[in-house]
Amino acid sequence: MAMQKINSVKGMNDILPGDSHAWLWLEEQLRKWLFSYGYENIRTPIVEDTKLFTRSIGGATDIVEKEMYTFTDKLNDDSLTLRPEGTAGALRSVIQHELLYNKTQKLWYIGPMFRHERPQKGRYRQFHQLGVEALGFKGPDIDSEIILMLRDLWQRLGIQNLQLHINCLGNLDERAVHRANLIKYFEQNINLLDEDATRRLYKNPLRILDTKNPAMQELVTKAPMLIDYLGSESLEHYTLWKTYLTNLGVEFIENPRLVRGLDYYNLSVFEWVSSNLGAQGTVAAGGRYDPLVKELSGKDNYAIGFAIGLERILLELEALNIVPNRVFPDVFIATVGSDTQALAFKIAGILRGEGLSVVQNFGVNSFKSQLKKADGLKCKFTVIIGETEVSNNQVMVKLMDRQTQESVAIENLVDFLRKI
Ligand code: ATP
Ligand code: MG
Repeated sequence: MAMQKINSVKGMNDILPGDSHAWLWLEEQLRKWLFSYGYENIRTPIVEDTKLFTRSIGGATDIVEKEMYTFTDKLNDDSLTLRPEGTAGALRSVIQHELLYNKTQKLWYIGPMFRHERPQKGRYRQFHQLGVEALGFKGPDIDSEIILMLRDLWQRLGIQNLQLHINCLGNLDERAVHRANLIKYFEQNINLLDEDATRRLYKNPLRILDTKNPAMQELVTKAPMLIDYLGSESLEHYTLWKTYLTNLGVEFIENPRLVRGLDYYNLSVFEWVSSNLGAQGTVAAGGRYDPLVKELSGKDNYAIGFAIGLERILLELEALNIVPNRVFPDVFIATVGSDTQALAFKIAGILRGEGLSVVQNFGVNSFKSQLKKADGLKCKFTVIIGETEVSNNQVMVKLMDRQTQESVAIENLVDFLRKI
């Protein structure tokens, strides 16, 4: 009987050694960048109580409507969900541990998120986000630093062509009046609505403005704009934010139809978009979500954050041909003949103590196959240990790119390698 092969779940990808080096490099750049802005790392569980997401993300969003991996814990019937995003969990944790009591917090997290979407390039069912949350700041100064630090990140990574879209979502009251007028407008044009829009009409009409359907573009361009319903306080926040950005030399596009996927945003919202990734062009997105803090903690407070899609950043780096090279071991240690492995262990230890990366031959292999292995690993040096070397306290060092080799006394080996 043929063995049934088990593969990974659709839309959930393995990251293999040929690709993981780019992830490691990116994560290292991200950590340095976050540290330089004073953000601290928070790590929360991947599984949360389903209510956390239905309450915080909003019932009429794509995520809660159809994208969540929700299951029942067989032991106690609890409804649990694989996190589809990181803000809700981070905020839950901060509230649970009273980290916001008379304090501000600047936090970041990284990890897998889960959404049951149709997999395509830049869209997966398990994907990774780096998220940042600045809690307890009213803005718009922090709103500006958030944008500035993202621009700084693109510069650090060498990504230069992203467009920044911004908008102001006002407060809940302003949105309610706009929403009523929006519904009225769409009702008057009910025959022009597509299926998605018809479904959203009373649930989340703001999201209709976000449609990607070309046939609806004219309708949504003429729809009432939220900006016309904003009061003086919201407009002032928005204006001051834009002034900071302009003075900092940040280019942006005001996009009155930018509404974001999640329900809990207010005031400043933004997206960074690449033209290289088609419909999956948004590489980072975020905004202010003061109302969510109130919803989860019962207290008024302030919050702004964003999430970066790491797969999309890596696709962007690939499109720009700026994925960093893999790093390879420095030294391969080849052993020929009997009783050579003990010295190999010793030399490997000495070289690792000097900060070098060392790979040792294991098992009995021909010299030729060991050199092939060293070539494949792209090591700069092969240290060859044969029976003569063991008795003379020496090794043979082969410089792989120059194809030369030289006999070196063990006590001089570190100096010899260092010189080259
Ligand atoms: P989209 O409009 O592309 O579906 P979204 O509004 O659902 O994005 P957010 O919830 O704001 O996305 O998530 C922030 C970022 O996470 C996105 O800008 C994107 O880079 C990334 N992202 C979101 N969903 C996915 C996914 N299914 N696969 C890969 N990356 C994703
Ligand atoms: Mg989405």
